[in-house]
Amino acid sequence: MTLSRREFTKLMAAATVAPPFSQQARSGRTIGIQVGAVSFLDEGVDPVLDRFQRDANVNALFIATFTYGRGIAGRQVPGQPLPDHGKQEYDADFHGGNFTKTHEQFYAATSLRQIQAPDHPGFDVLAEVLPRAQSRRMKTFCWYEDVFRRDLEGIDRLQEVTLSGKKANTLCFHNPEVQAFWQALTEDYVRSYPIDGVMWGSERQGPFGNAIGASHGGAGADPFEVKCFCNFCRSAAKSRGIDINRAVEGYKKLAALVRDSRAALRPLDGYFVSYWRLLVKYPEILAWETLWNDGQQSAYANIYKLAKSIRSEIAVGWHVWHNNSFSPFYRAEQDYADFCKYSDFLKVVMYNNCGGPRLASYANSVSHTILADFSPDQVLDFTYKTQNYEEANLAELPSKGLSANYVGRETRRAVNGVTSAVKIWPGIDIDIPTSNGEKKTEPQDVREAVQAALDADADGVILSRKYSEMRLSNLQAVGGALRV
Ligand SMILES: [Zn+2]
Repeated sequence: MTLSRREFTKLMAAATVAPPFSQQARSGRTIGIQVGAVSFLDEGVDPVLDRFQRDANVNALFIATFTYGRGIAGRQVPGQPLPDHGKQEYDADFHGGNFTKTHEQFYAATSLRQIQAPDHPGFDVLAEVLPRAQSRRMKTFCWYEDVFRRDLEGIDRLQEVTLSGKKANTLCFHNPEVQAFWQALTEDYVRSYPIDGVMWGSERQGPFGNAIGASHGGAGADPFEVKCFCNFCRSAAKSRGIDINRAVEGYKKLAALVRDSRAALRPLDGYFVSYWRLLVKYPEILAWETLWNDGQQSAYANIYKLAKSIRSEIAVGWHVWHNNSFSPFYRAEQDYADFCKYSDFLKVVMYNNCGGPRLASYANSVSHTILADFSPDQVLDFTYKTQNYEEANLAELPSKGLSANYVGRETRRAVNGVTSAVKIWPGIDIDIPTSNGEKKTEPQDVREAVQAALDADADGVILSRKYSEMRLSNLQAVGGALRV
């Protein structure tokens, strides 16, 4: 048996202190929950915190402080079952933005500064919740993500530009104003509130991954609209010696190949050989993919450096997108060794219930592009082998979901992939929306997922994606798992 350095350190620590493997040992772990302002308004701050502590042993809040996405800051997505606590309503008019007070002095270097969320006027979620969390010795993290809308004042200067030359609704990491925006928001949080940490998430990938549809929902992505080809990216490419015209030409050929693959127009030498031939002839395609990844990684590094320079004890970490579990192309670009340079913790998404339909969606998508020589079932088998887990066949996958074994394996991989200084807090799926007929979360799923993560040496868990959509019986299952 070989031990990683991390496992060895843990064994030595265990041998020295010899704590019993018990509730006490597990109680030292971070039990976090993601929650939006809407829940505190609907149910009251203290009743919500009471419930978190009583039902799920929660000791850390990940409050959705900034996003234009309903996923982490809304109440419930229309079409899903209504919540069984709080207001029994959808928030159809969700807008989003900054859910704390926006302190304007920090935003001088970016034209995107009209970001105050209009959803709950006068309610600063950190001002209301943080003192009461502190009095309970619960930690508070700002949880903010890279999701925008088009109708924001000043955003046009920050948007990505697609291969065909259109403005996108995503922001370009090579644009100094975008980096300045994330710096401003981070500085605002860290200086204005006595928070314990920040967690930022960017559920996006580069133009190659998007062109071949290598993600859940990837079949809907137009390969002619991949990003980013703005002037900032072009000048960054030039400084790296990348031939811009060749890159654009390569991506146009790639987009045409994807279009033909989806129409089942098989090239003479088959699909895979044709894609690989294109990558060999146009290495600029992958050079541009790396350029995009480096831009995203510079956002991680800049946020980390800034937060630590203001308060060295603050915990800084990242939400790692679910696609890390599905696409080996994306997984290859999420190198845990690289994350160690700028992370105190990683929330690696391991949502096992919605993971079933999402993985099926990924397999179906790439089986019509780069892996179109194979059936979707064969692509799924290939995925299991390359990602090192084994789950249901394609027909059953959407309704069965992924198992706790998947959570355990992915936790182990993450724990072994980082140094002992970086905490691994797997993201646990509690009632993340799925379509009719697809896997829904049950208490046993939650219990098993939490146990699998902790048994694989996770330093804690983060209950996701938001309290307002969690059914109470599923939340209570967390407490059940921790009391084993
Ligand atoms: Zn750009």
